[in-house]
Amino acid sequence: MAWRASSSSDYLEEEMVAPVKSRAIVLRRYPLGETSRVVVCYTRDHGKVRLIAKGIRKGGGRFGAALDPFVVSGVVFYLRRGRGLSLVSQAETEREFRSIRGDIVRQAHAAVALELVDRLVADQAPDPVLFDRMSEALAGFDASPEEDLRPLLWSFVLFLVDSLGYAPELEKCVMCGRETVEGGGFSTESGGVVCAECAPAGCDFGPDVVTLLRGLRAGAEPSSMRDVSDGLGDEVGRSLVRLLEHHAGQRLDLRSKAVLESLKRARRSREGRGPDQEEEN
Ligand SMILES: [Zn+2]
Repeated sequence: MAWRASSSSDYLEEEMVAPVKSRAIVLRRYPLGETSRVVVCYTRDHGKVRLIAKGIRKGGGRFGAALDPFVVSGVVFYLRRGRGLSLVSQAETEREFRSIRGDIVRQAHAAVALELVDRLVADQAPDPVLFDRMSEALAGFDASPEEDLRPLLWSFVLFLVDSLGYAPELEKCVMCGRETVEGGGFSTESGGVVCAECAPAGCDFGPDVVTLLRGLRAGAEPSSMRDVSDGLGDEVGRSLVRLLEHHAGQRLDLRSKAVLESLKRARRSREGRGPDQEEEN
């Protein structure tokens, strides 16, 4: 806590700001200079912030594991408005997700969730509900049976889509407004379900995707979606990513998603299966 304005910092040259305290989840980290690191976090009270942890790479003992990925921590930092770096003075681990850290498959799922938040959520736009949902999702990726990881990730991504304001319409046909929609499909461009009559005019996913998305929105248990085929699972994952890309106006090309895909391929070939089963977001 003994930071002083005279300590010749490049990052906090102007104002001496009061420290704030919040719970935080690390989204991404990168080195800064010889010994420091920038830690991009999602905090419960201040949203996404870019923290600078000085000296963390030379022993860094005072922060312990609190600024590592897959941990919920309590952090104290000097919040700097805008996109500047905020100096972190204290960090304490509150909850560590050890199974995620020790298991590449769990880690790959959790990484997709965190990378999406990093890429799509604006800086310093606090949303405590999102924070709590991230924390819950991490707990799920940490402790759930492996076959539930995939639906847990879909469910988190749909929550994120909704909370970013891109909620797809899942009940009424987005083209003609018809209330009962069976047998049509889903259009990412139009942002929702399309009835059978309007479907030929443009939908990129079939009715099974709609049924699954409805189940996810209704809060279906992940265990009820264990048996979803690889093919349908891939489509659900793609429909969610495409919705995000459509609204964000950019291709996401997630690094974490590439890892997840390669794990999936490795597993399929190890188990001698064709492209028909398991894992996807
Ligand atoms: Zn219609």
